[in-house]
Amino acid sequence: MNIAVVGTGYVGLVTGTCLAETGNNVICVDINEEKIKKMQNGEVPIYEPHLDVLFHRNIKAGRLTFTKNLAEAVENAKIIFLALPTPPGEDGSADLSYVLGVANDLGSIIKDYKVIVDKSTVPVGTAEKVREAVLKSMKNSLPLGEGRGGAEFDIVSNPEFLREGYAVDDFMKPDRVVVGTTSEKAKSTMEELYKPFVRQGNPIIFMDERSAELTKYAANSFLATKITFMNEIANLCEKLGADVDMVRIGIGSDDRIGKRFLFPGIGYGGSCFPKDVQALARSADEVGYDFKILDSVMAINEKQKLVMVDKIKKHYNNNLKGKTFALWGLAFKPDTDDIREAPALYIIDELLKAGVTIVTHDPEAMANVKKILGDKITYANDHYEALKGADALIIATEWGLFRTPDFGKIASLMKSKTIFDGRNLYGIKQMKDLGFYYTSIGRETVSGNSAF
Ligand code: NAD
Repeated sequence: MNIAVVGTGYVGLVTGTCLAETGNNVICVDINEEKIKKMQNGEVPIYEPHLDVLFHRNIKAGRLTFTKNLAEAVENAKIIFLALPTPPGEDGSADLSYVLGVANDLGSIIKDYKVIVDKSTVPVGTAEKVREAVLKSMKNSLPLGEGRGGAEFDIVSNPEFLREGYAVDDFMKPDRVVVGTTSEKAKSTMEELYKPFVRQGNPIIFMDERSAELTKYAANSFLATKITFMNEIANLCEKLGADVDMVRIGIGSDDRIGKRFLFPGIGYGGSCFPKDVQALARSADEVGYDFKILDSVMAINEKQKLVMVDKIKKHYNNNLKGKTFALWGLAFKPDTDDIREAPALYIIDELLKAGVTIVTHDPEAMANVKKILGDKITYANDHYEALKGADALIIATEWGLFRTPDFGKIASLMKSKTIFDGRNLYGIKQMKDLGFYYTSIGRETVSGNSAF
């Protein structure tokens, strides 16, 4: 099938590449010319594990191409995916200007039947808005006598559930595919497209557009709530002298609860959970529904992002001026270079205000942070280099690289054997035996025998 993907971010590029991998001809379009040039020159513009192999293979086979010209991209496409940003607007609701802007452009371009698929995360009712925008611009742009409003099209809501860091795997082997459409024609087109991805029997779940739109927000908000609940349990563990790791394993072995998304930490971040929880809360507001859990989740998460800063301040009696801290991890989670709403950035901001010098290392996200923070912090070539002369180490992202470090080397490089671990990477007993001051989330703080 011929496919156009509009927007080549984390979702669009993965979608386009994976659809090319199953034999489709895919043209990806983006307004960012620099990005398009990079991709035309064979460069993957984001860090996403395993994407490069598929990207290069499909470019070489001529099935994956890039353009900045929307009309060129959609001319021969049967399906047009919209993988555009839906950032929070001023009031927290999803900003639909990117999606509706492209819908408006499409209305004046398309000449034959297209399935326009919304892959962006959008509030309930957006499929109707997209349909209206396409129709309106179609009517305004086609000259009389040339089939005013003539080109047929269907709008499908097909929310994306991929996780950054596992995006290729998630797209190639999805737990489920949700397709919202009331058109039989669009339904069979989508079924044909997704058939190769659900060979193991995972379902393609067909539903109406509104339910599909809400499914995505419900999924992300549920997961954000689950994490937040565990963060609250962790905070309570510290006060009650319990160990959150034990509690986590204790409850996670119950099938009804499940083992995943039970790891406490320094709050959820990223490009999805914060904005999606907020947007769902706004949607509820708009129809007069008081969605209390979401308000609590957002408030708790704001506090949780700074829980480690509170611990640091307490440890140093609020006197941080002149201290040098090593910070491991900047990305909002491991295996991505995405720093949108990353807890590390909130920590950095607070510590800089308190007069701290920060030396950081992240395997993939330093270039993105440099674009925002420039030389306000120092970027180390590796995680050990960041430790030289540091008063303490703060861990903000659980990259695999940080899980089993050489603690002897850490101790020899640092001024003081002090670790503030926002991701619970190390064992309490191990840290005690090694003589570190070690504090984490929801577990005992050990003092070791460090000079602090
Ligand atoms: P992104 O910011 O990484 O990418 C968006 C891309 O769209 C950018 O390359 C941008 O240049 C391009 N763009 C903007 N306006 C355009 C236009 N008029 N024409 C063509 N291209 C244009 O965003 P993302 O993370 O890929 O997210 C896209 C959507 O998918 C959002 O609604 C998001 O909530 C949703 N989503 C994201 C994830 C994720 O993990 N990132 C997962 C599921 C769903």
